[in-house]
Amino acid sequence: MIPYGRQSIDEDDIAAVVAVMRSDFLTQGPAVEEFEAALGATTGARHAVAFANGTAALHAAVAVAGLGPGDVVATTPLSFAASANCARYVGADVRFVDIDPDTLNLDVSAVPDDIDALVAVHYAGLPVDLTKLSRRPRVVIEDAAHAIGALTPDGHVGNCARSDMTCFSFHPVKTVTTGEGGAVTTNSADLAGALRRFRHHGISKSSGSPFWQYDIRELGYNYRLTDMQAALGTSQLRKLEQFVHRRNEIAQVYRDAFGNDGRIELPPTAPEGARHAHHLFPILVADRDRVFGELRDRGVGVQVHYVPTYEFSSFAGHGTAAEFPETDRAFRRCISLPMFPALSDAEQATVIDLVREVV
Ligand SMILES: *Cc1c(COP(=O)(O)O)cnc(C)c1O
Repeated sequence: MIPYGRQSIDEDDIAAVVAVMRSDFLTQGPAVEEFEAALGATTGARHAVAFANGTAALHAAVAVAGLGPGDVVATTPLSFAASANCARYVGADVRFVDIDPDTLNLDVSAVPDDIDALVAVHYAGLPVDLTKLSRRPRVVIEDAAHAIGALTPDGHVGNCARSDMTCFSFHPVKTVTTGEGGAVTTNSADLAGALRRFRHHGISKSSGSPFWQYDIRELGYNYRLTDMQAALGTSQLRKLEQFVHRRNEIAQVYRDAFGNDGRIELPPTAPEGARHAHHLFPILVADRDRVFGELRDRGVGVQVHYVPTYEFSSFAGHGTAAEFPETDRAFRRCISLPMFPALSDAEQATVIDLVREVV
């Protein structure tokens, strides 16, 4: 089976992890600091705080932003459930906003004015155009789990040019992996401090007090990344440009192959001045379930991204398909084709032939 996504691990990555295993630190230590510095340098954000996974990063961002009961957090229903769950972790309400069919991202111009926060998901790796927000809510958080390496006219996604914080995931299907892992970037020293406390039981130390002394002034968790994971992340980040370049190459081959095929709708391209990170390559087809089944039967590990979050029983009361016609349409038609740097030209040619045959 050719999967829809897969990590790329080389000997440098393995050596970086092994080196940490021979060192004094296994959990959070110098390798986490090094990874955070590399992430700051990559994104252009002043601060980067590593987390155990992307979901923990989103939880932390929502919490340190001061969101809680009574607050309304808008987000897209065409995402992984964590993009919405983070609001529920702190007792805030989720308000789904339908997608814009031209970008498959949340329709920024339809974001209501009365919300307290926006979790903007860069679906498939195409940056949400935050310049189109009519009114900036109190808090803007980017869910960039798909978008490390993406560019906007303001620079790298993660530089927080138009947001308070940006969250990343380093799960193995994402462009850069640490096994499990995540991070939040921000330009605010206060938020960075709060994120670090949130990650480590709410512990704060004041300078000048004895080494053993600390205070816990707020609720915190153990959301730390290990040094082994961080070393893998730093090694992976060195290859980010290469990874994103290869993903864009693969996307172009799909575009050339299917561009004139009326049966296949291609995913949106990045506008002038932006770069798509191509975490996913979702095509839209009629008769999706049949096409999906036949491709899997022929060894193509396609996937659906995503079942809209309002469809889940746990989200009862958050709207129905009829209220989100564009999300519903995309969901009923979408199929993510294999998209990862190690996909060979021959494998991609096979995928293209099979898609043509099955569609
Ligand atoms: C993967 C993903 C997450 C969650 O990341 P984990 O590291 O798996 O916890 C959140 N949002 C989106 C859009 C994702 O794709």
